[in-house]
Parts: sequence; C-alpha cells; structure tokens
Amino acid sequence: MHVAAQIMESRTAKDRGVDFGNPKIHLHRLNEWKKGVVAKLTGGLGQLAKQRRIRYLQGTAAFSSHRTLEFKQAGGSIKNLSFEHAVIATGSQARTLPGGATIDFVMDSSEALEVKSVPQKLLVIGGGYIGLEIGTVYAALGSSVTLVEMTQGLLPGVDRDLVRVLQKRLEGLFEALLLGTTVKEMKARKNGITIVLEGPDGNRQTRIFERALAAVGRSPRTSGLGLENTGVEMDKRGFIRVDAEQRTSDPSIFAVGDVAGEPMLAHKATHEGRTAAEVIAGRKAAFEPAAIPAVVFTDPEIAWAGLTESEAKSRGIDFAVSRFPWGASGRAATLGRSDGLTKLVVDPRSERILGVGIAGVGAGELIAEGVLAIEMGTNATDIGLSIHPHPTLSETIMEAAEGLHGTATSYFQPRRKPKLR
Ligand SMILES: Cc1cc2nc3c(=O)[nH]c(=O)nc-3n(C[C@H](O)[C@H](O)[C@H](O)COP(=O)(O)OP(=O)(O)OC[C@H]3O[C@@H](n4cnc5c(N)ncnc54)[C@H](O)[C@@H]3O)c2cc1C
Repeated sequence: MHVAAQIMESRTAKDRGVDFGNPKIHLHRLNEWKKGVVAKLTGGLGQLAKQRRIRYLQGTAAFSSHRTLEFKQAGGSIKNLSFEHAVIATGSQARTLPGGATIDFVMDSSEALEVKSVPQKLLVIGGGYIGLEIGTVYAALGSSVTLVEMTQGLLPGVDRDLVRVLQKRLEGLFEALLLGTTVKEMKARKNGITIVLEGPDGNRQTRIFERALAAVGRSPRTSGLGLENTGVEMDKRGFIRVDAEQRTSDPSIFAVGDVAGEPMLAHKATHEGRTAAEVIAGRKAAFEPAAIPAVVFTDPEIAWAGLTESEAKSRGIDFAVSRFPWGASGRAATLGRSDGLTKLVVDPRSERILGVGIAGVGAGELIAEGVLAIEMGTNATDIGLSIHPHPTLSETIMEAAEGLHGTATSYFQPRRKPKLR
C-alpha cells in the first residue's frame, strides 16, 4: 500500500510542477523489501518472546481433552502436552468461491500479496476492505482492475458519505466498479480465466481476465482443532463463543482474535489476548471497549470508531451529526487532497461523542483521537476547546466539533441550538 501510494503521489506531482516520469517497477526488489519488513517484524516478536521466557514450539496443535493437546511438530514427531489454561488464537481463513479454489489464476489475499507478477487484466471479486486494498495496489502497479461486488455498494456497513469519497477516486483508478453484480461461472483457460457475471438487471456477460482475486470474506479457523474433545462451543457463524473475560464455555480454555468473533482486526486480537492473560493471571479484567477503530488502507483511507451513522439509524438511537468537508482544510489543500470528510456522531442532548468517521489521506492515523474521545467520554465542546496544531489534518476533527454549534472557523454552518442536558 505504501508503494502504491508513492506511485500515485508521483503521478499527481506533475500537476505541481514536478515530473518524475513513468515509474519503473522492479518486482523482485519490491518483494525483497517487503519480505525484509516482514522478517524484521516477525523476528522482533521472536526476540520479545525469548526475552519474556516464552517457550515457542512450531507445529500444529489439536485438543485431545479439555486439559491436553496433541502437538505435531514441524518434523512430523508428535508430543502430548498438558495445560492448566489454553488460549485459542487460530485466526481465520479466506472464504473461497464455489469451485474457485481449484481454478488456476484465482488468488486469495495471501497469494495476491506475494505480487509474483502484475496481470494486465485483474478481476477483484468482493468490495470489502481486502478487495479494495489489494485492487488499489495492483492498479497502481499497472493492472487494469475490474471490481465486482454483489451488494449495491462498496464496504457494506460503512457510512455511505465516507464511502463516496473513496468510490469517486476508485472510479478513476479502476477500469470498472460493478455493483450489484455476482460471479456466476469461472473457467480456467490457457492464459487466464473466463468469468460469467450477472448484473443487477439479471443480464449476464462473459469476460476474460488474466487473473482474479477472491476477497469474499473470512471465516474463523476451528476445523481440525479437536474442539469436540473439549467443552468449547461455537455460535451459528462458527466463531468460538466467549464472555467478556475471553473465557469459552470450557473453564480452562480461552479464545481471542479472529476465531472469537468480529471485528476481525489485529488490534482487537491483541487487546483480547491481553485480557485473557490478565484473567488467567488472576487479575480482574474484561474486554469491553467503547470503540474499536477500523481502517481501510486505500487511497484515500477510510477510518471509523464507535457508533456509525448507519448503525445509529438501524438501532433507532437518537443522534446528531457534524460534518467537516476537507475542502475547507488548509492542510488538505497543500496536499492536493481536499476530497476528504471528517464527521462526528454525537448524543444530541449531552453532545457526547459516540462515533467518529474520517475519509481522506491519513485517516488511519487521525482516528486514534476519535477513539480516545469516545473512550474518555468527551463531548464536542471538549474537542473544540482543545487546541489542534495548524496546519494539520487533525484540525478537521476540532472543526467538525465546533461545527456542531456553527462556530467552525474555516467552514460556515448555520448555528444549531445546543440541547445540553
Ligand atoms: C489481506 C489482509 C489484510 C489485513 N489487514 C489488516 C489491517 O490492516 N489491520 C488489522 O487490524 N487487521 C488486518 N487484517 C486482519 C488481521 O490479520 C487479523 O485480524 C489478525 O491477524 C488476527 O489475529 P489472530 O491472532 O486472531 O490470528 P492470526 O494472525 O491469523 O494468527 C493465527 C495463527 O495460528 C496458527 N494456527 C492455526 N491453527 C493452528 C493449529 N491448529 N496449531 C497451531 N497453530 C495454528 C496460524 O498458522 C496463524 O499463525 C488483515 C487480514 C488480511 C487477510
């Protein structure tokens, strides 16, 4: 994503009087650099584990009872391990399309991230965050990308005003964005794949692509774990049921991360892991966040935390919204990226911040302020009175808060009468 952003930035620099020419992409070097970053991060974790005297065994584990594990080591030998407490953190796996796994030229996200080559024509199946992020990478590297999404909009569940900001840009970057469209058939051919698509009107069309990416969701990884030998229960969607202490229905077994429910995000997994460790150590702890931030690392990024506007509507929660369009931000203008939007969802009486949504460059960095605001129970006035540095994009959060009373400096909004409790 970082390299994709650099490529796109270098293209637009031309408008500001700097022409870098067409980028020459050396895939081998790009992959070596990426591998180096990954090695540094995973190596760092190994080192941290050693310093904390954690014994690390590499292999596959399956429960043989609620206190024992059968452990198959990488070399094939089998060990039996017993434990007082276990934490299941087996993550999730990519869902495959019916028949898709066996077809050549259909990648999942892990294969796509290896970037072995840049296909001329790529079909991305799925308009969730993984499809959009990987589609953006390949489009920046030079692929002509077509994206199909079976629902009527990208990023189902995310507020439409935020998605619109991204969609507008993707319409310029991708060859086509086909909404309300499903893949009906896939067939491998000599140098690619033939795909039959059905549009919202029911009409079918056949298209040829060099490769396709299946990004149609992820499911919890529980098969082969021997859960039937324990008291661990799963919900209807296959997630392991846990309580606020991350305890499963088997008292000696805990579960955290993707396998223990939505949202499937790394920072949620780590915080759940911390909760499980504290509970096992006998401390009072519970996983009960007011906001778990989510970031879509596209260009522009979309980030949100807490209550979204669409969730507030569907749950019948009374709310007020203040939006600050980045067209009024000085910093966004200097970046040539006035296409963003910052919004606050607040309680209309106390003006307490319930949710924050941002679409724009760097939204993923900015959202942390929103998380803090929600967790600390701040209201719009608290944020408006907190001096934000100028010229920065963080001011958009302050001005969105001020905008609730019509007092934003850079943007005129009619005054709204505060209904303070
Ligand atoms: C393409 C992609 C992009 C993503 N981007 C983001 C992002 O930007 N930000 C974010 O927060 N999240 C992102 N995620 C989600 C994030 O990766 C997961 O939420 C996170 O890794 C979950 O952590 P986990 O510990 O639950 O599982 P994992 O990180 O999946 O780890 C599970 C581990 O358990 C091992 N395992 C499984 N079964 C067994 C067994 N029987 N015995 C022994 N070991 C086993 C697996 O090999 C794996 O190493 C992304 C995911 C994908 C696929």
